Amino acid sequence: QLAARLQEAIDRLRGRGRITEEDLKGTLREIRRALIEADVNLEVARAFVEEVRERALGRKVLESLTPAEVVLATVYEALKEALGGEPKHPQLKDRNVWFLVGLQGSGKTTTAAKLALYYKGKGRRPLLVAADTQRPAAREQLRVLGEKVGVPVLEVQDGESPESIRRRVEERARLEVRDLVLVDTAGRLQIDERLMEELVRLKAALRPDEVLLVLDAMTGQEALSVAQAFDERVGVTGLVLTKLDGDARGGAALSARRVTGKPIYFAGVSERPEGLEPFYPDRLAGRILGMGDVATLAEKVRQAGLEAEAPKSAKELTLEDFLKQMQNLKRLGSFSELLKLLPGVGRALPQGFQVDERAFKRLEAIVLSMTPEERKDPRILNASRRRRIAKGSGTTVQEVNRLVKAFEETKALMKSLERRKGRGLMGMFRR
Ligand code: GDP
Ligand code: MG
Repeated sequence: QLAARLQEAIDRLRGRGRITEEDLKGTLREIRRALIEADVNLEVARAFVEEVRERALGRKVLESLTPAEVVLATVYEALKEALGGEPKHPQLKDRNVWFLVGLQGSGKTTTAAKLALYYKGKGRRPLLVAADTQRPAAREQLRVLGEKVGVPVLEVQDGESPESIRRRVEERARLEVRDLVLVDTAGRLQIDERLMEELVRLKAALRPDEVLLVLDAMTGQEALSVAQAFDERVGVTGLVLTKLDGDARGGAALSARRVTGKPIYFAGVSERPEGLEPFYPDRLAGRILGMGDVATLAEKVRQAGLEAEAPKSAKELTLEDFLKQMQNLKRLGSFSELLKLLPGVGRALPQGFQVDERAFKRLEAIVLSMTPEERKDPRILNASRRRRIAKGSGTTVQEVNRLVKAFEETKALMKSLERRKGRGLMGMFRR
C-alpha cells in the first residue's frame, strides 16, 4: 500500500543527523516505487520525485528538525500542490450548463444526481438531463435518482439530435427557471471514436460552461489515458474523482491532475446521493502519506459545533477535559474511525479501551470519585488513592490505572504536537 510504503521510505531517514544527497537518493527511489505501485503513471511519478528532490536539497536542515521531518514535510507539500493546492470550486454564474463525461461505470449518473442535491442545498435550481441517446436504461437510472433527490429530469429521445436537445433544454430551463443544467452524457466501456464524436457535437450545441470528467479512483493508471483522451477531444474543465471511499490509493488523482492540469473539484465518497464532498488536496496528501487526517478531524469537530470545548494546552489538560474530549469524539461518530484520523491517539489508548456508553459511565464514575487536585494532576495518585477511587466508583484499580495511563499518553502526545507546531515546519500539517 502506498501509505505504508511511503512511510517506510521516510522512516528509514529517521534518527539520522542530517540529509545527505545519498540518503535522499534511496528514499526518493522508494517513494517513486511506492507511487508507481499505487498506479501513478511512471512519468508522473518521476516528475514528482524530481520536484521533491530539488525542494529537499534546497532546504536547509534546521538543528531542531530531523531529516525525516524535512523530507516528510517536503513530500507532503509537493503532494498537496500536485493535487491542486487549495480546494477549488467551479464558477457559478446566473445560468450554468455543466457536462458530466467519462467512461461507463465511472460514476457520471450518480455524480449528476449528487451535484444536483449538493447545489440544491446551496439554493440553486438544478435540472438534470439524461443525454444518453443510445441506452434507455441509462436514462431510466437518472430518472429514478432525480426523483430521489427531488430534481426534475429531462430525458432525451433515442437518436435525438443535439440541436433538438438544446431547444428542449433551453425551453425547460426557461419555463421552470432552472439555473444549473447538469447533463449526464453517454459513456462507453472504453474510449472510442463514436463516443467522442457524439460528445463533441453535443458540446457544440449546448455550449457547457464546465465539462467535468468523472474518474473512477479505483482505475489508477487507466485514469491517465482516459483523462488525456477526453481532454484532447472534448476539452475538460475540471475533474470529479469517484469511489474514494474504497481502498483507492490516490494515484489516479495525481496522474489525472498532472496530465490535464485541471482542478479536481469534487470527491465521491459513497454510493448515496449525499456522498459528494469538495476535494481537499491537503487531506488526500495527508492520507496518502498515512499521517492521519488532522484536517478532516478538525472539520468534523467544527461542524459539530464543539469548538468551544476544544482541548486547551497540554499543560492545562485535566482528566475532566479528557473525558469531555472523548465524549465529544464519540458524539461525532464512530470512535475508532475518528481515532484513526488523529495521529498517535489510536496508539495512545490501550487495547480494549472500549468506548461504549457503559464504559463511559464507568470512566465518568472514576473521574467523579477523584478530588479536584487529583483530576488536575493524576501524578499524585498513589496506590492508596487509586484503591479509594476504585472503591468509590465501583470499578477496579486496573480500570483506574488504564484511564490514568491513557490520559498521560494523550497529554504527552499533545505536548509533542505543540512542540512541533512551535518549530514551524510541522505546523503546515495543520490548517
Ligand atoms: P456511469 O456509468 O458513469 O453513469 O456510472 P454510475 O453513476 O452508474 O456508477 C457506477 C457504479 O459506481 C454504481 O454502482 C454507483 O453506485 C457506483 N458509484 C458511483 N460513485 C461512487 C462513489 O463515490 N463511491 C462508491 N462507493 N460507489 C460509487
Ligand atoms: Mg450512467
